[in-house]
Amino acid sequence: MILVIKNEKKNELGKLVAWIKKQGLDVHTSEGANATVVGLIGDVSRIDIDLIASLEAVDSVKRISEPYKKANIKFHPDDTVVDVGGVKIGGGGFVFIAGPCSVESEEQIIGVAEAVKKSGAQLLRGGAFKPRTSPYAFQGMGEDGIRLLLQAKKATGLGIVTEIMNVNQLPLFCDVDVIQIGARNMQNFDLLKEVGQSDKPVLLKRGLANTVEEWLMSAEYIMSKGNWRVILCERGIRTFEHYTRNTLDVSAIPLLNELTHLPVIADPSHASGLSRLVLPLSLAAAAAGADGLMIEVHNDPEKALCDGAQSIKPEQFDALANKVRGILPCVK
Ligand code: PEP
Ligand code: MN
Repeated sequence: MILVIKNEKKNELGKLVAWIKKQGLDVHTSEGANATVVGLIGDVSRIDIDLIASLEAVDSVKRISEPYKKANIKFHPDDTVVDVGGVKIGGGGFVFIAGPCSVESEEQIIGVAEAVKKSGAQLLRGGAFKPRTSPYAFQGMGEDGIRLLLQAKKATGLGIVTEIMNVNQLPLFCDVDVIQIGARNMQNFDLLKEVGQSDKPVLLKRGLANTVEEWLMSAEYIMSKGNWRVILCERGIRTFEHYTRNTLDVSAIPLLNELTHLPVIADPSHASGLSRLVLPLSLAAAAAGADGLMIEVHNDPEKALCDGAQSIKPEQFDALANKVRGILPCVK
């Protein structure tokens, strides 16, 4: 971190340096003709950048190292590969996670699981606890939904990915393969710390209006508690565009590949909200370097209890998976 000191406040430099040293850091001061620059040396992750910027003597502050350390590729150059019961996410492969937005019945979840497995999906998704905008909308089957997912896992051998909404639900997730943290909970720090203490893979979705750095800091929360099995999922962000539910931030994918060793997947279903856009966005995400896709697939989208408009049918998923596999050799 570098501080530029106001010329007229140079006399306060000694006081400022003493304060910085008290925070456990060293300083390197360079006095030029027009400005005095102070470099902070050491672990600045605990320093409050806004507090420093507000100090009388400080003209500007520039962070030169990222605040996330464990998620940072600079310190961990090798790709993290998250192994979910033999399904490897990250490190050059490509994974398909598919299934309905919500678990609705035994017939539905097992039917969809069997179909997507045939098309090459390696993991089954399905929400049991649903974060709905309206309290009057279907809230998910809860514990029964988890039970049905486990039945589908038994029937097909597919590992299951499902969303947790609060820390009290954690005991219900002991047989779940991947814990999903949804967009709305990306900054639920208590939940992040709690899943950080488990040894289960965590699929961390990007918040609706969060920057890439904030997202990586949320991953850092999980990793700082010891769980490094984190998969990032770009699911679209809020923009001024209203033809689509969200806007898929395709640029976040190659950017994250530069910034972090963690695997990055994309969710084109929530990104667009429109089933007809799921295929082109899937191709775009794969071409941009994603390690996989999470797609909402429903046997009867028109009757879906949640997110029917963005759900594709099993036969559409089959075609999509084929097309994506077709371009992977050109882009990987
Ligand atoms: C979901 O995966 O069904 C979901 C609710 O996603 P998000 O948190 O991205 O909105
Ligand atoms: Mn959904």
